[in-house]
This record gives sequence, structure tokens and C-alpha cells, in this order.
Amino acid sequence: MSSLSSRPDPAPLTTVQLGFGCNNRCLVCSQGELRESEALVPARQVESALVGLQGRTVVFVGGEPTLHPQLCELIELAKRRGARAVRLQTNARCFRDPARARLAKQAGLDGVEVALFGTATAMHDYHTASPGSFRETVRGLRALLAERVAIAVNVVVTRSNYRHLAEFPRLAQALRAEVVRFSPVRAIGRAGSAPHGYSAPSALLAPRLRQATQVAQALGIAVSPVDHPDFRFAGVGRFVPPAQSSLARPVRLAVLSGAVSSEAASSRSPSFAADLAAIA
Ligand code: SF4
Repeated sequence: MSSLSSRPDPAPLTTVQLGFGCNNRCLVCSQGELRESEALVPARQVESALVGLQGRTVVFVGGEPTLHPQLCELIELAKRRGARAVRLQTNARCFRDPARARLAKQAGLDGVEVALFGTATAMHDYHTASPGSFRETVRGLRALLAERVAIAVNVVVTRSNYRHLAEFPRLAQALRAEVVRFSPVRAIGRAGSAPHGYSAPSALLAPRLRQATQVAQALGIAVSPVDHPDFRFAGVGRFVPPAQSSLARPVRLAVLSGAVSSEAASSRSPSFAADLAAIA
């Protein structure tokens, strides 16, 4: 498996967008109305962007890149043209079909970054406005894991899920993800047009974020609060949150070396356990 955490990936990124369309309808989608477009970037145009890839990591993004019918061919082409690794920024729903996961792996897929908005069905599906999306994403991740595709989880922190942040590393562990990143809602697209915004209040968020980081540390999962050399998917790189963001204050990596509180390390049964057990 191409590891996201144990083998630092300093390779520069080439980010390639395959279209804006998506099968989720997330409340905080930065694509805004663009995602209503079903237009895909023609394969020939993508091919012309896949140049000078020697030693680089190629990240296919959308919208939802798995909606592109030539995705596997494009993954193969990126590898043939010298890409060191190929990854997807995806909601992973299509990979609920194990055959899709197998084909992507055979084409050369090394890793995925999946946005999770909740640690259980109701919380995630509320944010995606897509009933059944949590179930399909979990199934997709399991199928990718079976193909030894590395998994990174991007937790988009909102005012509706920040109280549950400490559960996300546990969910990531249950899904065998190697890296967790906590990302602010960006006040653009859908989130930008919401009158009261979706960001969690900074003062209330800070202790939750600290606790979640400690839980991840206790579980041995790499955390990328703002920026991390192994977790620079989708061209995010050194992401600077907008001033309106609840995460505008940089998260100090020093918390990673702090003592793990007994509360953070507790093994209370997480709320997602029943949901995961029910997803065959
Ligand atoms: S999965 Fe991503 S691209 Fe699709 S609607 Fe949600 S935020 Fe937008």
C-alpha cells in the first residue's frame, strides 16, 4: 500500500480537475452552483495537462472525479507519463462497487482523500444532503482498503459537527485511514451564500480540536490540522483559512507532543459503532 503517513511524500503536486458535477449535495460545497454542471473535462484536454509528471503526485479532483468515464485510463496515463503517485479527492461513493475499486487500483490508484462531515449516518448525510451517502462512502472506503489503496480523511469542521470532533479519529481508525485533517469551512460557494455561515465558534472549537488531536495521537493516526507534508491533496498546499473561518487561528502542532488526557484516551464506545456494524 502506498502509505500517506509513514513515507513522507514531498513530491510536488499536479492537480487536475475533471469537472464540477457531483453526486453529493453538500451544504458547504465550495463549488457552489458549478456542481450543477454535468459537463466533464474532455479526456483529450486532461491528457494535455498530464505532462512533466516525472516524480510528481497527480491528484484528480472534481466535483466528483469518479464521475468521469475515462478516469481509469487517465490514472494509467498519468503513471505511464512518470507520476510518482496518483490520488483522488473523492466522496468514494462509487467505490461501493468493489469492481470499481479493483479497476482503479489496477489502473494505478495509490490513495484517496475523502471528506467526512459526520461520524454517523445522520450527521454525515445531513451535511451532504444526500440520504445514503454515509453508507456508500463507508462501503467505498472498505472496498478501497481491500485493494490496499491508502486512505486519508478530511474532516470539514462545521457548527453542526464540532462537538463530535474527538470521534473522527476513532472513525478514521475503524476505516483504517492513515491521516486525518481537520479543515475549516471555506466561506465560498454554498457556504459563502449561507446567511449565518456554517463555521463553528472559535472559542468553543479550540478545546474540541485539541482533544481530537490528542485522540488521534493516542491512536497513532497522523493529524494534519492546517498543513502537513503528507497531506497536500488537491493543491491545497499551505492553505490559509479566510478571516471568517473558525480556524483562522493556526492550530499549533505542539499539541501533538502534549500529554494525552485521560478523557481523550478513553475507550468509550463511539456513536458510529452501531452504524458501521450495520453497513455490510
Ligand atoms: S462531495 Fe465535495 S464536490 Fe461533492 S458536493 Fe460535497 S463538497 Fe461539493
